[in-house]
Amino acid sequence: MADGTNLDERRAALNAIAQEIKGCTKCPLCNGRTHAVPGSGRIDADIMFIGEGPGYHEDQQGLPFVGASGKYLDELLAKNGLTRKDVFITNVVKCRPPGNRDPLPNEIQTCVSNYLNRQIDLIQPKLIATLGRYSMGLFFPPDVRITKIHGQVKRTTGRMYYPLFHPAAVLRNPDMRPTMEEDFKRMMTLVREMAQKIEPPKDEDEPPPPPRQLSLF
Ligand code: URA
Repeated sequence: MADGTNLDERRAALNAIAQEIKGCTKCPLCNGRTHAVPGSGRIDADIMFIGEGPGYHEDQQGLPFVGASGKYLDELLAKNGLTRKDVFITNVVKCRPPGNRDPLPNEIQTCVSNYLNRQIDLIQPKLIATLGRYSMGLFFPPDVRITKIHGQVKRTTGRMYYPLFHPAAVLRNPDMRPTMEEDFKRMMTLVREMAQKIEPPKDEDEPPPPPRQLSLF
């Protein structure tokens, strides 16, 4: 996306992608869906959350994170003075996998290359927060474990990648709540620092991930 593209044009382009997603038949997930779930939020969001894929409630309503996980995400945002209107929320795959099974590599590949990468290009978030392992796998090496790297920022020029536990995992294990809340709070500090252009020292040892890495394949 060229610099200087204005917000209205970016919003129109994002809406056009949402329309494409709603009519998408590029992979078998379209056969079982009630509604495709393109994502929602600000076109110029600083933070973009990427979950795994729609569940039952999301499929029913056509909106991301509207079930129990979404309520918890709303709670975490509210604790940090935000609502979902201040961020952008989407998923790796835009249609619900049958029975909530894990998305398959070809489904992920199709959805990311056709839609998610274009959404990222338009929104240009300062920070991409991955929710769970499928989203994390797009930006971090395949052998890393979420339990090891959650809350540890990875920086590239102009963008940060921040792995978070999936809210559903935290709901299943309430002992993880304090950790999730600390990770979330640190994420907010990072975004504020970047907005104020206070650049914290970079970790020179760690090379940035290539922007289109699909390390699941
Ligand atoms: N879990 C996800 O990964 N995404 C949603 O939209 C809802 C639940």
